[in-house]
Amino acid sequence: MTSPGTGRATRATRASSSSSSEGAGPLPEGLERFQSPGKGRGLRALRRFAVGELLFSCPAYACVLTVNERGNHCERCFARKEGLSRCGRCKQAFYCNVECQKEDWPMHKLECSAMCVFGQNWNPSETVRLTARILAKQKTHPERTESEKLLSVEDFESHLDQLDNEKMELIQNDISALHHFYSKHMEYPENAALVVLFAQVNCNGFTIEDEELSHLGSAIFPDVALMNHSCCPNVIVTYKGTVAEVRAVQEIEPGDEVFTSYIDLLYPTEDRNDRLRDSYFFTCGCRECITKEKDKDKLEIRKLNEPPSAEVIRDMIKYARNVIEEFRRAKHYKSPSELLEICELSLDKMGSVFAESNVYMLHMMYQAMGVCLYTQDWEGALRYGQKIIKPYSKHYPLFSLNVASMWLKLGRLYLGLENKAAGTKALKKAIAIMEIAHGKDHPYVIEIKKELEAH
Ligand SMILES: [Zn+2]
Ligand SMILES: [Zn+2]
Ligand SMILES: [Zn+2]
Repeated sequence: MTSPGTGRATRATRASSSSSSEGAGPLPEGLERFQSPGKGRGLRALRRFAVGELLFSCPAYACVLTVNERGNHCERCFARKEGLSRCGRCKQAFYCNVECQKEDWPMHKLECSAMCVFGQNWNPSETVRLTARILAKQKTHPERTESEKLLSVEDFESHLDQLDNEKMELIQNDISALHHFYSKHMEYPENAALVVLFAQVNCNGFTIEDEELSHLGSAIFPDVALMNHSCCPNVIVTYKGTVAEVRAVQEIEPGDEVFTSYIDLLYPTEDRNDRLRDSYFFTCGCRECITKEKDKDKLEIRKLNEPPSAEVIRDMIKYARNVIEEFRRAKHYKSPSELLEICELSLDKMGSVFAESNVYMLHMMYQAMGVCLYTQDWEGALRYGQKIIKPYSKHYPLFSLNVASMWLKLGRLYLGLENKAAGTKALKKAIAIMEIAHGKDHPYVIEIKKELEAH
């Protein structure tokens, strides 16, 4: 599953008896579902929204905390705090209090005893875990939910007819895992329906990240999935616990379509569209994809007396894409020092052709920074971060969570290393973006302001 999902529909005219919103409370005000020319259904503004204004929020229809964050966050509400109390049965799920634990039981019971039975061998993917919860939710709550005011889960696009053999095989593996790990509390629909559901989850699921963009879990936000994609989005999706919030990052006028971005916007047009086609089955036609305005800066070549030939540049781009993929796989099994070596070697090699602001260089520096943070090499992480931040600010849109989280990491590193002036400046940069993207009263913003006061 990839972050954020899609409400895009190539077969959007499927009639549905449940497309009204009866019984699910008032619709988000000033917004409507509509048919977007060439894009299927989408979300449109009926009034003006100012930069930083909340368009709507959407509670998770289903969500799951990632295994690595167990003990750091409440399984139910995703609150991050010390001293959570653990489930007495499996000793693997952690909660704020008895209320959170009680409320989570209908979902946690799908896994609690199974985790004890399977022990070390319990390893369903996060997609499988989330899908099990969707099936449980559909059973306990068959009527339309608060999360489905504009788009219901059953109306999700599946792009079933566009899945190749490889994707089909992955789905069959997920279905096997679902049967294997969740047999006790589950009544399974027939295989064909499960294939559709997994396909729907794959292109409509969201990943929830924290303020530094660390992965916290996966979730389904049906109304948020209605929004189509643009590489120059006019809204950003953030999370308050397990509730998704959608805020304007550009002025939105009445009649404008509301666009979010499904992908990381760092990369050049061709790479973005490879990704969009592979995960969401469409090619983007936004202003940025047509003008390719930022591509030249994103692929900046090093200034040399003898500029490299077109062929050398082409080969280096090919090398860069391969090493990015190689690193992505290596992360799962290589040691930090081995990973750092991949970064340094590739940066050395690419640096003979690419400028330091080139996005492939930035990608490997970002990975290297991640490894340094993991090994608590704060100076190393800071060195990479300092190189990344300026080109990042140029390549990404004005309000970007990637830029905000980089300022935040830098600020926390500076303060940890007793550089108060630089730390304060960096945290203020992060806050300036997050007050727009997350809202002024978001717990993350309040927390960062406290960090500023403490120094
Ligand atoms: Zn909680
Ligand atoms: Zn348990
Ligand atoms: Zn685009």
